[in-house]
Amino acid sequence: MFQIQNSVDDRVYVVDGGKLRKDIPEINSETGRQLFEGDIILPLERNALRNNSYRWKFPIPYILADSLDLNAKGVVLQALDMFRLKSCIDFKPYEGEQTYLKFEKLDGCWSYVGDLQRGQTVSIGERCDYKAIVEHELLHALGFYHEQSRTDRDDYVQIWWDEIIEGFAYAFDKHNDSFLDDLNTPYDYESVLHYGPYSFNINSNVPSITTKIPEFNEIIGQRLDLSRIDLLKLNRMYNCTSSLTFLDQCSFEYINICGMVQSGKDDADWDHTLGKSGEEDHTLLGNCADRGYFMRFDTKLGHAGQAALLESRILYPRRKEKCLQFFYRLNGSPQDKLVIWVKKDDGTGNVRRMEKLYTITADGEHHWKLANIPFSVQTKFRYGFQGIRGDPATSAGGIAIDDTSLTETNCPTNIWHIRNFTSLFNRTSKGDYITSPVFYSSEGYAFALQLYPHGRNSSPYVNYMGITFHLCSSQNDGLLEWPAGHRQVILSALDQDPDVIHRMSLSLSFTTDPKQLVYGRNDTLQWDKPSITGSFSSACNCYMSPGVGWNTFLTHRELHWKKFLKNDDLFIFADFEEATPAFPRYQKIAM
Ligand SMILES: [Zn+2]
Repeated sequence: MFQIQNSVDDRVYVVDGGKLRKDIPEINSETGRQLFEGDIILPLERNALRNNSYRWKFPIPYILADSLDLNAKGVVLQALDMFRLKSCIDFKPYEGEQTYLKFEKLDGCWSYVGDLQRGQTVSIGERCDYKAIVEHELLHALGFYHEQSRTDRDDYVQIWWDEIIEGFAYAFDKHNDSFLDDLNTPYDYESVLHYGPYSFNINSNVPSITTKIPEFNEIIGQRLDLSRIDLLKLNRMYNCTSSLTFLDQCSFEYINICGMVQSGKDDADWDHTLGKSGEEDHTLLGNCADRGYFMRFDTKLGHAGQAALLESRILYPRRKEKCLQFFYRLNGSPQDKLVIWVKKDDGTGNVRRMEKLYTITADGEHHWKLANIPFSVQTKFRYGFQGIRGDPATSAGGIAIDDTSLTETNCPTNIWHIRNFTSLFNRTSKGDYITSPVFYSSEGYAFALQLYPHGRNSSPYVNYMGITFHLCSSQNDGLLEWPAGHRQVILSALDQDPDVIHRMSLSLSFTTDPKQLVYGRNDTLQWDKPSITGSFSSACNCYMSPGVGWNTFLTHRELHWKKFLKNDDLFIFADFEEATPAFPRYQKIAM
């Protein structure tokens, strides 16, 4: 089922020289600069959170300074998109406004708190270019302090003062009520604004913060994404009532099926179906009695060619990009089809112009799978799922869909679906890895990933999975640019929470440097053709370049704490795209 290999060639380049995903306190304590709470520069008047004049007006103008690394620019734009998806906070490129955020590469990761109304810097220094770190600094800029500086923090965490590096105790100050407003939210161990256990600590194995509920010792300092309560606070402070780029989602738990409608013009209907043993839904996977619905089109009834269309309500776009994501299961006839449609405004206000987006055909695999369908539309529209009966005589099941979502964001292109993860995990040990299928970038570069469930042999980290990115030789190589520099690799592990806004997916990225040498070899460019840099691999039947990646991709705790594993499936998204044109909102302003 898995082809498990063990790494012998350790010619792997670890992004950040193996120090990857260091947290903010560690990065900042190395710069020697002493900042309030560790990464905040205080405004003159300290009540940013209580004083409305420190609140931003939207959209917030921003500048990506030339000093930022290419990867940092991409990561900042990615973080801005997370705020647009999860809140009403919007941003726009700077056009001469008085107040703005200027992202710069200075010493460490830090920010001011609140809108100072004179333009202000957010520093995304060396090793700060991670989505969650930028989100953390942006929350400061939007007016928030650290979670562990709350007035009531001593009820929830213990600060070990003797374990803190001399001179850094101020980073653990707590604030009083006149200064801080918790917006009537409970203490949040999961906040992206919480420091981890090993912050400004003297002894690398002795924590400076521990939690009163011990389970959270492994959670504080999470750097996956904004937590549910981070969002609640943000949305309360800024009176957000809706997101900017979220349009629709449905887990089909309720009979109104989120306003989706059955077409009246077709042959049959989808059924709102309660999961049963052996045919569970995807939202709850049979874990709750009397719950766990999905939509199902029975294909063992009727005759071949009969179809049923399930359409969304009419939706009104704000921007062009769309990403439709859903889980599906085809366990009927091998001839069954699931067709995705979009129905657009015909120019007269009627939503009737059909466009076929994608067809999924049965492949004999009867488990839940994931699809990401990108499309663009700027008029009002509906999207639809059309099931087509292939051959009822050979069908024992049907077509199912569940946990659909539609966002106005760019879709990840490639999905690595790793099944039976627990079995893989139990059968492997440190140094063992599996190789993904070969993926292709939009330019035609072939690449693959290798996942180390227990980390690479040389990794100093325990309980972390490792992941590496490899270019692969392909028939396109003669046409492509080499070395393949200035491309951004984005790898994400999907939190499969049915609620898109509250997902806390991990996303890491780096940008390829055309001058980088293969680790340990001074005569070969890392991003040259894989036939030059790499060795032949039976996993892809191709030449595979030495890997570049992380020793600290996802912790074993995170896998189970969030819904990274559902149905024992792990989904990893992988993209390798040109960095410059892929950043259309990048404004080059020299300041
Ligand atoms: Zn901070």
